[in-house]
Amino acid sequence: MFESEFLTPTQEDKDRYQRLVSEAAQIVCTSLPEPPYSGKNSATLADLIRTDFLPDAASTSEQIAATLRTVVSNSVAVNHRNTVAHLHCPPLLAALAAEVVISALNQSMDSFDQAPIATVVEQKMIRWLCARAGLPATSDGTFTTGGSQSNYMAMLLARDTFLQRHWNWSAQKSGLPPEARRLRIFCSEVAHFTVEKSASQLGLGTDAVVRVAVDENFRMSPAALQESLQTSHAAGLLPLAIVATAGTTDFGSVDPIPELASLAQAAGAWLHVDAAYGGALLFSAQHRVKLKGIESADSLGIDFHKLFWQPIPCSAFLLRNSRHFDSIKLNADYLNPEAHEEEGIPNLVTTSLLTTRRFDALKLWISFQTLGRDKLAAMIDRTVELARHSARVIRDTPRLELLSEPQLSTVVFRYMPSQAAVDSDQINAALRQRLFDRGLAVIGHTRVHNRQALKFTCMNPTMTEDQMDELIGLIVSEGVAIESGRERRA
Ligand SMILES: *Cc1c(COP(=O)(O)O)cnc(C)c1O
Repeated sequence: MFESEFLTPTQEDKDRYQRLVSEAAQIVCTSLPEPPYSGKNSATLADLIRTDFLPDAASTSEQIAATLRTVVSNSVAVNHRNTVAHLHCPPLLAALAAEVVISALNQSMDSFDQAPIATVVEQKMIRWLCARAGLPATSDGTFTTGGSQSNYMAMLLARDTFLQRHWNWSAQKSGLPPEARRLRIFCSEVAHFTVEKSASQLGLGTDAVVRVAVDENFRMSPAALQESLQTSHAAGLLPLAIVATAGTTDFGSVDPIPELASLAQAAGAWLHVDAAYGGALLFSAQHRVKLKGIESADSLGIDFHKLFWQPIPCSAFLLRNSRHFDSIKLNADYLNPEAHEEEGIPNLVTTSLLTTRRFDALKLWISFQTLGRDKLAAMIDRTVELARHSARVIRDTPRLELLSEPQLSTVVFRYMPSQAAVDSDQINAALRQRLFDRGLAVIGHTRVHNRQALKFTCMNPTMTEDQMDELIGLIVSEGVAIESGRERRA
């Protein structure tokens, strides 16, 4: 009764595998919602999923297909032109095909004997990425699950290095010394919330994070950083790390990395560059210059499940000096015995927070190979151009207010109600919700200068100017409809 449940050397199983993969792809192709979302709320979805997950006996293939169709048709279509909310990308076809291979091979990156060629591919790709970022030959890195994990790793290694260097203290062995409460991490007001999350998880506490003021373009102000550093120094606090953001999530702003690098060096602080979003500019001939200074980072993170159009997860953490990985290293006899190190057998568990881990490097490699350098650059540049186009249209639309010049591929703006008396925060929040509930568009929201704002995150390089104009028109007409609905009720 166990035959045919696995990919085995028999021809029947191989045929069945190919058929199943093709049928699954077909369900995706025929059931993705158009418009981008079914509009169902969580209670309605919960009603759809009234099920005993494990049936007594196997379901028919029709029943299984129906399950998959329910899931696909109630997902957000990430490839739809009106899905512009988050740094949440439509995945490349090449990467989807590579995912089939990654899953089927099921290599696990923790030890060489579970992932021989995968280990070599990942190692080489990491070193290649380090070189692209301008890091020296001492550098190394690892694939991670995302920018959050990369930020966490950066703060972890920065913390351990600081404790070792200043107090000859091993956090790995002894936990935190009492003086650790004096450590401070500096990042901008609009840096990612996972800086605090990391500090809290690392026993430093969110109070250890000092938020530094930004300029009118939402870039960290070096003068403000210098002042913060001086104030903390005067209070007996110690600068553990400075986090520069290359591409903030809401504004796409890139902190002035060279200036922050000098300040970090003078203060003896670790410089981490959170390039989860803006790291893509490394591959843009036109915008690469915005990342000037990234080569001085002690560590950096780049997400490939954002502007590189990879299926989740795909992300890298790069480290200037591979020696700093030592603080997270532990040996397990069954995976990475010390004898392997002497023999030069690479077991990547030593450089990761995880043990079992996917071979995500493959899909990135296949995607790079499929696109080529020029096309990848053109796709990245196109998202920047789309954001600029939408900013121009928003500026020229009387009912809309542009809140910041786009710097990468995000645009933040507001709908302005016709009467000053109405609560415009409420209208903007309602507008986004209404588009989602009607399934017409999935747009972003955030707060800018403490006001409710709408956001586009342009992730789809195939979107045209006309489609963007249409989406903006839709937003205006929904705003007007909400206002007139309120009038009628009033
Ligand atoms: C997206 C993002 C993160 C978090 O990355 P995940 O991949 O979602 O974990 C961190 N920093 C910045 C600037 C981001 O844009």
